[in-house]
Amino acid sequence: MSDLTTKTAAEIAALVAGGEASAVEVTQAHLDRIAAVDDRVHAFLHVDAEGALAAARAVDERRAAGEALGPLAGVPVAVKDVLTTKGVPTTVGSKILEGWRPPYDATIVERLRAAGTVMLGKTNMDEFAMGSSTEYSAYGPTRNPWDLDRIPGGSGGGSAAALAAYEAPLAIGSDTGGSIRQPGAVTGTVGAKPTYGGTSRYGLVAFSSSLDTPGPCARTVLDAALLHEAIGGHDPRDSTSIPQPVPDVVAAAKLGATGDLTGVRLGIVTEFAGEGAEPGVLAVFREAVDTLTKLGAEIVEVSCPHFTYALPAYYLIAPSECSSNLARFDGVRFGLRVGDDGNRSLEEVMSLTREAGFGPEVKRRIMIGTYALSSGYYDAYYGQAQKVRTLISRDFTAAFAQVDALISPTTPFVAFPIGARTSDPYQMYLADLFTIPTNLYGGPGISVPCGLSDGLPVGLQVMAPTMADDRMYRVAAALESAVGTFTPPAL
Ligand code: GLN
Repeated sequence: MSDLTTKTAAEIAALVAGGEASAVEVTQAHLDRIAAVDDRVHAFLHVDAEGALAAARAVDERRAAGEALGPLAGVPVAVKDVLTTKGVPTTVGSKILEGWRPPYDATIVERLRAAGTVMLGKTNMDEFAMGSSTEYSAYGPTRNPWDLDRIPGGSGGGSAAALAAYEAPLAIGSDTGGSIRQPGAVTGTVGAKPTYGGTSRYGLVAFSSSLDTPGPCARTVLDAALLHEAIGGHDPRDSTSIPQPVPDVVAAAKLGATGDLTGVRLGIVTEFAGEGAEPGVLAVFREAVDTLTKLGAEIVEVSCPHFTYALPAYYLIAPSECSSNLARFDGVRFGLRVGDDGNRSLEEVMSLTREAGFGPEVKRRIMIGTYALSSGYYDAYYGQAQKVRTLISRDFTAAFAQVDALISPTTPFVAFPIGARTSDPYQMYLADLFTIPTNLYGGPGISVPCGLSDGLPVGLQVMAPTMADDRMYRVAAALESAVGTFTPPAL
């Protein structure tokens, strides 16, 4: 493994800015690493070597011309295949978009380019971001670098595995119910879901529009904050984007790294205690709580009585929105078209295309969502779930009147073996038990590695009030300063 691939993004940017390494050298080192390990890990669906080297050369030229470079210039980044990339294949892990090359960049991708980062390629994901293991990708699963027979989490397993395998120092994910945080937890990396509306959804292929939140993935809290700062902030092209500056997440990560949490009040959610979590995960979480106490934090127990209903509410709201959003994949406008032989009707072509193009989990969600939205059942299911969503938001508001942030294990269990949960959708849904409430509320959440259980990573989640993303970075960075970072066995 080349030395350059084990560095943090902050270190790489400093090397490039100081002329100690060129952006081209850094990029080539990561492309070589991808060539060496990705046949086993399968983090990438598409590697854009040419585009990456061209972007790297541009950074080197700007530096040679004496231009000031931004804090991430020359740093490679892997992008979840849910974001549109101009001229570069974008599949969302689905056969229905196979071969589609978008005519435009997502806002986040535009901002990544403007920041001088180097896009290496597109990472694997559960089809349309529906899943918790990346096994629902139509292009085959990604493997966890900690144990290649285990899942890397999902839906953004490709981005998390690329980090853990040292194929990229930074990655972009999207989090609708946990798809940034849960893969972060099970791969021993950092994943942050920003406040909903704090990062632009323009060019993010929609799953559940009221929940979808793109965000940063990295190997350290500071790197995640640097990436968050680069991609975040108001976007007039997204009507739900918040017209306010990004909270100072970088300063917060640096403050946290001093390891002092004096005066910070952290809440443990009573309803999460013990519920569904493996003993090994709970033990590591409790040790992390002790560590936070030693760093000066005050820990209190907080009740959020409606969190128990978050999972059922989510599995009505998300499928309902998906059934509406995915109607655009009709065999006419994008990608795949099946059976268009001149004799079949539009409806037949549409139906054959959707039959062939969507996988079983996507079809399941479209059917549940269509049912929940149908006129006779709307009030009983979708309407009821929206009311529960309001109650969960009120629980958060009440909790944040007592504490600065909430903490929990990120996931109830460590990375499970490939194939262990695919036959039972409910078992798969449980992976997001602790992450989903935050999405329903709209606040930020981060997962930071806090230890190992049976040799596999465990993540601690920090949840903060909306637009207080800086708070979660402070707490996460403080914990990281005490427990360190975690490196998987050599591949
Ligand atoms: N695992 C959850 C689901 O399947 C969350 C997915 C996500 O955050 N994109 O819906």
